[in-house]
Amino acid sequence: MATAFSDPIWRRPQAASTFQSLSNGERVDLAIVGGGIMGLSTALHAARLGLSVQVLDAGEIGQGASGLNGGQVIPGLKYDPEWLLEHFGPERGEALVNFAASTADAVFELIRDENLAVPFVRNGWIQAAHTEAALKAATNRDRQWHARGADVRLLNAAEAAARTGAQGYLGGWLDRRAGVIDPLAYTSELARVATAAGVRIAERQRVVRLANAAGVWRILIENGLELQAKAVVLATNACTDGLIPGLAQTIVPLHSFQIATAPLPSNLAATILPEGQAVSDSRRILVYYRKSADGRLVLGGRGRMALPTSAGDWAHLERALVRLYPSLSGVPIEKRWFGRVAMTPDHLPHIHEPEKGLLAVVGCQGRGVGLMTALGERIAGYLQSGDARQLPFPVSPIRPIPFHAFRQVGVAATIAWYRLLDALER
Ligand SMILES: Cc1cc2nc3c(=O)[nH]c(=O)nc-3n(C[C@H](O)[C@H](O)[C@H](O)COP(=O)(O)OP(=O)(O)OC[C@H]3O[C@@H](n4cnc5c(N)ncnc54)[C@H](O)[C@@H]3O)c2cc1C
Repeated sequence: MATAFSDPIWRRPQAASTFQSLSNGERVDLAIVGGGIMGLSTALHAARLGLSVQVLDAGEIGQGASGLNGGQVIPGLKYDPEWLLEHFGPERGEALVNFAASTADAVFELIRDENLAVPFVRNGWIQAAHTEAALKAATNRDRQWHARGADVRLLNAAEAAARTGAQGYLGGWLDRRAGVIDPLAYTSELARVATAAGVRIAERQRVVRLANAAGVWRILIENGLELQAKAVVLATNACTDGLIPGLAQTIVPLHSFQIATAPLPSNLAATILPEGQAVSDSRRILVYYRKSADGRLVLGGRGRMALPTSAGDWAHLERALVRLYPSLSGVPIEKRWFGRVAMTPDHLPHIHEPEKGLLAVVGCQGRGVGLMTALGERIAGYLQSGDARQLPFPVSPIRPIPFHAFRQVGVAATIAWYRLLDALER
């Protein structure tokens, strides 16, 4: 995803992993295609359960969404507990709510337990409300999570203003389970501990074909090498291509763009997000923002689907930044980058198992740091035990979205329409 116009601020830690080259014809228990958070978390936990694991990535570890994202670690799904219980029934719904509640813990516990060199602040996430309707939704969400003992609370307008330092919010919802990390450091450190647990990781190995011969998977790589495995997990998310027929047509990939200011002067840093929380706006085309460990304000939101060609492609985010923080109008934007997220029509991640021993996970919905970390552990448990109760989401058939090729056009039109509605509500 790196282009002349993609320059993230995130850093790899000093102690880099040692990645191995691949030996032709090698045989492992589990081959994982894709070395982002999903692939690496699955690999780490599978190795700890005793499986021999090989991760293959088409590029460098962290080059996908996992190394480019906003680093907001937010528990939960798009849907609140009552909706999940209603749609999945009491048993699976309850398990899903508990899983959703645990996803941020999965990240921060790994950082703590494995002593990962990952800059982080765990002081919560604010869902800031800019309309009465958004405030009502926040109140409803607060009631549901509060009833489950989660460390959450509603903020009035003054509290939201004090915590964000931003203009224009009627209030908000603070979820203290959440936090912020450096996502590239996290992905790199996941690779390091996975390697230490026995996982073999090979970069620049694009898988071009998967074939099953008498219960053994042959994984064919672009450079002609071949690997054999008892099971394969496809963890390619928004980069999913044609390896499994129809899979790419089950997701709508969208671009998320980000900007980072220069490190803020201390007088501004003291008033903007003084407690270090992450924020997501309630607008239809939301922006999300946080401070980085080196004191920049990092703000992200949807971007155009064509590859960016100039800094002007990030101008809408610069306008959003100044709308929220007029005092930042003179502070330079030093970095601009973007990445790809995978959306599904029902806004839930999908687990597929089109053939025995072949699993695919797609649909991070732009909130995959915690989700994919926690899901990786469950996928590893399922692979080792065969017990489907390990999986928080049911395994579903691959259902390509009708008229998929036209979906992008529809998404672009919807985004333009939502931007207009957001502007009218200002
Ligand atoms: C700009 C941006 C901001 C975001 N902000 C947040 C946020 O603040 N909080 C949050 O929770 N989530 C956020 N997300 C979403 C989050 O980053 C993703 O949900 C998560 O990283 C997905 O991880 P993954 O491992 O599934 O996929 P990826 O990290 O995309 O990894 C997929 C990997 O598969 C590899 N691959 C693809 N095809 C092949 C092949 N044929 N052979 C071998 N390898 C292959 C790719 O090279 C890539 O490394 C954001 C995403 C973006 C892009």
